Amino acid sequence: MERIFNFSAGPAALPLEVLEQARDELVNWHGCGMSVMEMSHRGKEYMSIQADAEADLRELLGIPANYKVLFLQGGASAQFAMVPMNLLRGKASADYLNTGEWSKKAIKEAKKYGQVNVVATSEDKNFSYAPTQDAWKLDPNAAYVHYTSNETIGGVELFWTPQTGDVPLVADMSSNILSRPIDVEKFGLIYFGAQKNVGPAGLTIVIVRDDLIGQTVKGTPTMFDYAIHAENDSMYNTPPTYAIYIAGLVFKMLKAKGGLAAMEKTNRAKAKLLYDALDASSFFISPVAPENRSLMNIPFTLKDAALDDEFIKAAKARGMIQIKGHRSVGGMRASIYNAMPIEGVQALVDLMRDFEKQHG
Ligand SMILES: *Cc1c(COP(=O)(O)O)cnc(C)c1O
Repeated sequence: MERIFNFSAGPAALPLEVLEQARDELVNWHGCGMSVMEMSHRGKEYMSIQADAEADLRELLGIPANYKVLFLQGGASAQFAMVPMNLLRGKASADYLNTGEWSKKAIKEAKKYGQVNVVATSEDKNFSYAPTQDAWKLDPNAAYVHYTSNETIGGVELFWTPQTGDVPLVADMSSNILSRPIDVEKFGLIYFGAQKNVGPAGLTIVIVRDDLIGQTVKGTPTMFDYAIHAENDSMYNTPPTYAIYIAGLVFKMLKAKGGLAAMEKTNRAKAKLLYDALDASSFFISPVAPENRSLMNIPFTLKDAALDDEFIKAAKARGMIQIKGHRSVGGMRASIYNAMPIEGVQALVDLMRDFEKQHG
């Protein structure tokens, strides 16, 4: 069967070469006579897989030595609680930027553990942009400042790094990690679920500066304590071994392709192709402010929403799936993570042109 172009927001498309390598190694990894899925997480084969994955991720992102890399579970959603439980460190409040659905969930959860100060919100314009820092009301006594670097549902991305002085900066990078280079040193903590741009669902990665851990709020479960996972090299309990193995293959593939600078070039070209097509037409509309248009998740609407279903059907007939918008936004959404080839974006743009000719 032919591979289709899968525009899903997550779990999302994985690179074909990674899937093929995993298939080739599925029942017998490197001649050891068993699958990665069957290995003891404390055996030397699996330990080497996880160590390689960490080393390759450190190289790709340029992670400094004083940062821990933790392989966890529970999704980014568990981090909405783990971040305040670990980083409040006796302080009364934390600062949060509100740019959409994922910010709102992070804020709601943090309120269980401390006071939340919303430094700025774009709710006034239906979360179609990100407030610039001159509009933020930062609290110098906040335990940390949290923001969502790419709102997966609204398609709003920040292309600048907030300046928070001595207050640690925390980012939910679930849907744009590895899409372009970042300066890890500017952050206290970065977290992301793997199923958008890294690997299979079931793996969550946390990158945290080591001086920030070890001061959890009273009653924090052992499994929610970053220090426990750091002390045990993410093997306090059984890690999601197969997901870490696949993520490791993705890291190696990204390195071989020239790293994140090369990914950024490709991702910018892909996004430009689609945004240019949206801007050139009055039949399709991008709801997002130009300076915040995500390179990864591109929502758009048809002028006549009654044609939505027909557009989705026409896409399916040409081998393109999962372009229906999130239920909270409507319209369409094309998620074009690293694994989406430019040919997939071109196929979508071609369909848009033909569909407009037919219905416009
Ligand atoms: C998908 C997503 C989440 C939630 O991830 P889970 O793994 O389902 O918990 C949180 N934040 C962002 C930005 C996301 O894209």
